[in-house]
Amino acid sequence: MPAETITASPTEQIKLRGHVFYIKRDDRIDPLLSGNKYRKLYSLITMPAGHYRRIVSHGGSQSNAMLSIAALCHRKGWVFDYTSKPLPATLKSAPDGNLHMALSFGMRLHEVAHAQYDDAIRQLAGVTEPDTLFLPQGGADPLARSGITLLAGEIRAWLQQNKLESVNVVTPSGTGTTAYYLATALPEATVITAAMAGSETYLRAQMQMLGSIPENLRILSHERKYHFAQPYSALLEMYHELISAGIEFDLIYGAPMWHTLLLQMEQISGPVLYVHSGGLIGNETMLARYRHKGLL
Ligand SMILES: *Cc1c(COP(=O)(O)O)cnc(C)c1O
Repeated sequence: MPAETITASPTEQIKLRGHVFYIKRDDRIDPLLSGNKYRKLYSLITMPAGHYRRIVSHGGSQSNAMLSIAALCHRKGWVFDYTSKPLPATLKSAPDGNLHMALSFGMRLHEVAHAQYDDAIRQLAGVTEPDTLFLPQGGADPLARSGITLLAGEIRAWLQQNKLESVNVVTPSGTGTTAYYLATALPEATVITAAMAGSETYLRAQMQMLGSIPENLRILSHERKYHFAQPYSALLEMYHELISAGIEFDLIYGAPMWHTLLLQMEQISGPVLYVHSGGLIGNETMLARYRHKGLL
């Protein structure tokens, strides 16, 4: 685990289709607590272990947030109870990827039938034990603010070093927590994102649970032909193009975000700083699915 106050993540440059992009390498902070999960969980990472005994959360069975919280709890000696919908049979008989790793960190998985899921989550969210923390799916919680504010501070320092007045900060959204707090903490920049895990309506609703959507937050629309976490040859091509440009991104959020961004670069003026949101560990299972589908 890195020192509790990390030095700023590095910023690099890549060239893609004739544009220069600055990349904030948050994927380099920590392999397990990578990218925006490190930022979102920062207040817990830096908290004395005695503060909690148990974390309760829920979501998908290959979620990056799940893996990061499992790694965090393992390091802190906290119990981690995670509720998901029933696992697909193949995953259940042979857990791989993020799920395998999270289980090896001692995560206790609780499968709940689809019909009971929403009720089960409502019950979890109502937990009143003082030494237990409920974290909503994806870490979409106000406790994410402090770590993302630190990220904003690093971007501000970078702007000053490079004598830039403003910048377009791009990062992909699932729950939108990262983009939302980044925009509120960095009013001098435009934060550009797109809805990767659901519709734009879902994304706006998620953000509005955190507060009113700031004016400097721009959500790029895209044709929703790419369903969340599914393999598509266009996204695989994007992934390989980025690797050729020098940096690996994740296939679930990063590849579709770049795909959307590049289609709309004409409408974006000024420098672009892409905040790498991590998630590279999940690429292994995604690439296996591309192979399985015959796309790779
Ligand atoms: C979790 C995750 C996101 C989405 O972050 P939100 O704050 O939920 O919008 C984006 N990219 C990667 C790689 C992620 O793991």
